[in-house]
Amino acid sequence: LLLAYDPAKRLARLQVNLNNSLVGVKLMYDLIDEEPSLKQAADARSLDVTKGAVELADVTFSYGEGAALIGLSFKAEAGKTTALVGASGAGKSTVFSLLERFYDPSSGAVLIDGRDVRDVTLASLRRSIAYVSQDTFLFDLSVKENIRLGRPGASDEEIVTAAQDANAHEFIVELPGGYDGSVGEGGDQLSGGQRQRIAIARAMLRDAPILLLDEATSALDAESESKVQSALARLMRNRTTLVIAHRLATVRDADTIVVMDKGRCIEEGNHMDLIRQDGTYRRLYDLQFSSGSSGDSDAPNLKSD
Ligand code: ADP
Ligand code: MG
Repeated sequence: LLLAYDPAKRLARLQVNLNNSLVGVKLMYDLIDEEPSLKQAADARSLDVTKGAVELADVTFSYGEGAALIGLSFKAEAGKTTALVGASGAGKSTVFSLLERFYDPSSGAVLIDGRDVRDVTLASLRRSIAYVSQDTFLFDLSVKENIRLGRPGASDEEIVTAAQDANAHEFIVELPGGYDGSVGEGGDQLSGGQRQRIAIARAMLRDAPILLLDEATSALDAESESKVQSALARLMRNRTTLVIAHRLATVRDADTIVVMDKGRCIEEGNHMDLIRQDGTYRRLYDLQFSSGSSGDSDAPNLKSD
């Protein structure tokens, strides 16, 4: 179905709509038969993720002038949730880009199960990673085909199962046309919470061991929020999750919190560790949450852009 699109037009549209978006670049590489700018090693081998442990080892990276990451090291344990927090520009999204190998570090290494991502094929690397964000791009295609992008070749039955797991099935069947109905240009026929659940269904179908999650900054209505959260909890189960966290509940529940500032990790630990440490995280927390907030999932966003 996608092949029916004129690649040049599709590319132009992606560039217009998806400038600076991870999923855009990813889809571009997946859908368009074009060499990625980073070459894989001649002897690159397939990445077979066994545990899904992720490590950044003394990573320095610059887009041009000024370093975006400076000697950044942290481990995201297999099957656990690691939250990245820090002000806008701290380097959180850059970590995701390096993991997907849209760029390579200028020094240091990104490792998955101990293997340098530069030593594995790009296809096997990207198959191992699912990316979910509030602005995951939806094509002007049917609901079903949008979900199928998670794993081209998936059966209709698998798509329905993924949608059910993503708490999306119930609203999809109510749409005009159901699974065959259009999501509209960029998904404009759907609410924000519905778009997110389509994106989650896509990731469910992808079934990758590593999940990169960029949490929503814009508020959803309470019902939609709870459906998105329970779908995400299901998606995160048994996967290594790195989350750019905006919700207090996510940060508090994370196994490890990596506090970033200007490309460096300045604090690392779980919520209680960092509160006790009484440093930047503590100040951020007090500033954002403690003045009259109940600290539930409706708490204001942790200031991390
Ligand atoms: P965060 O996600 O924490 O807000 P980013 O990883 O997006 O931080 O950005 C880290 C630094 O890199 C910032 O100084 C930002 O301006 C810069 N940066 C991010 N993306 C690009 C890019 N595509 N080209 C040039 N500079 C960039
Ligand atoms: Mg960012």
